[in-house]
Amino acid sequence: MKYDQRIKLSLLYIVFILLMSNHVSAAEISLSITPEKIYPGRLVIITMSTMYSLEKIQGDVEGHTLYFNKIETTNTYQAFWPIDLEDHLGRRTVKITTTLKDTRTLHYSADFDVVDKEYGRRDLEFEKTYDQKTLNRINSEKDKVTHVLEKVSQKKLWEGSFIKPVEGPMSGEFGKKTFVQGEERSPHAGIDFAAPVGAKIQATNDGIVAFTDEDFYFEGKIILIDHGQGLFSIYVHLSKISVTKGQKIKKGDIIGEVGQTGRAAGAHLHFATKLFNKRISPEDILSLVSYEVPNV
Ligand SMILES: [Zn+2]
Repeated sequence: MKYDQRIKLSLLYIVFILLMSNHVSAAEISLSITPEKIYPGRLVIITMSTMYSLEKIQGDVEGHTLYFNKIETTNTYQAFWPIDLEDHLGRRTVKITTTLKDTRTLHYSADFDVVDKEYGRRDLEFEKTYDQKTLNRINSEKDKVTHVLEKVSQKKLWEGSFIKPVEGPMSGEFGKKTFVQGEERSPHAGIDFAAPVGAKIQATNDGIVAFTDEDFYFEGKIILIDHGQGLFSIYVHLSKISVTKGQKIKKGDIIGEVGQTGRAAGAHLHFATKLFNKRISPEDILSLVSYEVPNV
């Protein structure tokens, strides 16, 4: 399934490049926003191409800064924008300002719409209420993670495509509404991979270990990796953590082992991705194709 998605995405991309190259000479700057259907939980890819060499490129969505990365040897720039799993629907505006080498400044803007999606539901049998001590613990753990996720490292640390963190089939989908004994809770903000206790977990891409904890109430043993520019990957319910905070990680490095610590119904890896602390589908991250300039 993953492979098909990749092919589809790269084809879409090549078509887009062709369209752009016809377009660029007329418009000077061309902007594309993908995927075609944008709903809560999706990663939006903003690609800007120009016939000129740029001195500078800046952009924002609703006042929030975008991080544009130049695609090697081209005059194409790309930025990611997250739509949180429970973000509001409706229109967003992307604004971009470019400064050319000859100091001319060009402004560009484009709109996209966030539409609704039905993700389905899951029912869990966990405790429905917590005593004050447990509640305090849960809130303090949440605060610790939020604090880490809100720190944006300016430098891009990831390279190329992202890899699946563990061998094993997907056993829990992203986005499902979650009910605990009939009461609605936060939706499932990651994907679950079924794998036995002790299965090795790989870093999905290069980065720095931003946080680890051995005993979170829900998550058990948890690792957060900072991939730079606001992008993080999160690994939950581990039986073993093999890295320490501040450690530099390369894609594929073993960071720990699968477990069922915290509140987990069985052994699995819960894998989540966040950009600017917004919950986005790990499948969108895993199906990103590293940018290649087609031979046309
Ligand atoms: Zn999960």
